[in-house]
Amino acid sequence: LKSLLKDPSLLETRAYVNGQWQTGQGTFDVTNPARGDVIAEVADLSRDEAAAAIDAAYVAQKEWAKWTGKERAGVMRKWFDLMIENQDDLATIMTAEQGKPLAEAKGEIGYGASFIEFFGEEAKRIYGETIPGHQRDKRITVMKQPIGVAASITPWNFPTAMITRKAAPALAAGCSFVGRPAKETPLSATVLAVLAERAGIPAGVFNIVTSSSASQIGKEFCENPKVRKLTFTGSTEVGRILLKQAADQVMKCSMELGGNAPFIVFDDADLDAAVEGAIMCKFRNNGQTCVCANRIYVQAGVYDAFAKKLAEKVGQMKVGDGLKDGTQLGPLINADAVDKVLEHIADAKSKGAEVILGGEQAEGTGNYIHPTIVTGATQEMAFATEETFGPLAPLFKFEDEDDVIALANDTIFGLASYFYAKDLSRVYKVAEALEYGIVGVNTGIISTEVAPFGGVKQSGLGREGSHHGIEDFLEMKYVCLSV
Ligand code: ADP
Repeated sequence: LKSLLKDPSLLETRAYVNGQWQTGQGTFDVTNPARGDVIAEVADLSRDEAAAAIDAAYVAQKEWAKWTGKERAGVMRKWFDLMIENQDDLATIMTAEQGKPLAEAKGEIGYGASFIEFFGEEAKRIYGETIPGHQRDKRITVMKQPIGVAASITPWNFPTAMITRKAAPALAAGCSFVGRPAKETPLSATVLAVLAERAGIPAGVFNIVTSSSASQIGKEFCENPKVRKLTFTGSTEVGRILLKQAADQVMKCSMELGGNAPFIVFDDADLDAAVEGAIMCKFRNNGQTCVCANRIYVQAGVYDAFAKKLAEKVGQMKVGDGLKDGTQLGPLINADAVDKVLEHIADAKSKGAEVILGGEQAEGTGNYIHPTIVTGATQEMAFATEETFGPLAPLFKFEDEDDVIALANDTIFGLASYFYAKDLSRVYKVAEALEYGIVGVNTGIISTEVAPFGGVKQSGLGREGSHHGIEDFLEMKYVCLSV
């Protein structure tokens, strides 16, 4: 992997704690999902070492909070610039450990960096408030202050952006950050630390604790009284565990959890645009995002035409090693992920669905699977209630607008939803009726640093990105002055 990088010193297998590069008691392996070979052995930190990182972050935060917003913005801007300067290398590291095609990895580095740029700028705009007093001698001020040490746990599907989306608002607010990246993708996290150090982020403010033991590190994050904020992206199942653990300390929590996104195509939609949108929404990162369309509902009048056009386009997508030119669909993260997609396909077939494209594992040693489309999907099939997290597009047929809204909302999840329609009153009505934190109308791509990302129901708590995203790392203090 080193030989593929313009700057090989970006590849770092040690953890980064208190401005020091740290080896653990042992190491854990990182494999390339395209070939299954081990590409790095990364420092495996223990719970005690995570506690030491929290101690360092606790001390560093007090000083960091004294910096002016403009000073914090200055080093964050340098950090952003370094990410962009090294975009190709960062993308290569990501593709090697995560599998996504290089072009998508570059896109994620740009997206991930944008949070550092955006929140660095926001550091200058953390405004408080004055409120007219309730008595003649009273003056009321509301201050916004950093909450303290923020601990983060992130998944492998967006190994860079899920960290920067949390670390950037934390640092901008004046918090310090201790992050535990997924064990599948630690190198995308340690390289952020390499660049943070080069940018001049002070020791202890940004820490990366690499570890194979998620539950041990998670316990330390929840039980250590020096941590005041927990921010997590991952499954609803693990989110519930962390919320329970964090309850003892009444810790402020942000949770970006699972989704089961509906994608609805109405009769009046621009069908070609809907096909394009569905492809971007369903097959980005090979279906491994929590905002990927999981259920595609198509109105009866356009169902057959949509299925045909979608199959034609998806059938042309190239599956392969993400580092090779022209690859559009990389491997899935591991063999279990492949099995889950195959199970969902088998389950659908056994309940009467028809596979019109793909349906099988692709040849080769990696975790490849052909992009798959099934028609005749029904609410009894597994993907109606569970996230597939892979390249399987099930097409459900519907007749009536109210029915499809009810079906779309019939889930414990409420992260992203999408629909295609032209009628303006329908657009408003459906956008209002969908019980989701995010609604894409006539678009399949909704992620940007300037908008609030987050879910309702069991998809999460809090919002990331936009000026709202920094609030999760701030406390309000009401000061009442008698003059
Ligand atoms: P995904 O399906 O995206 O891997 P998970 O919720 O399983 O979703 O994992 C998200 C992150 O949470 C990963 O970094 C994983 O290692 C971590 N994790 C899993 N179980 C726990 C736990 N009990 N406590 C803390 N972190 C955990």
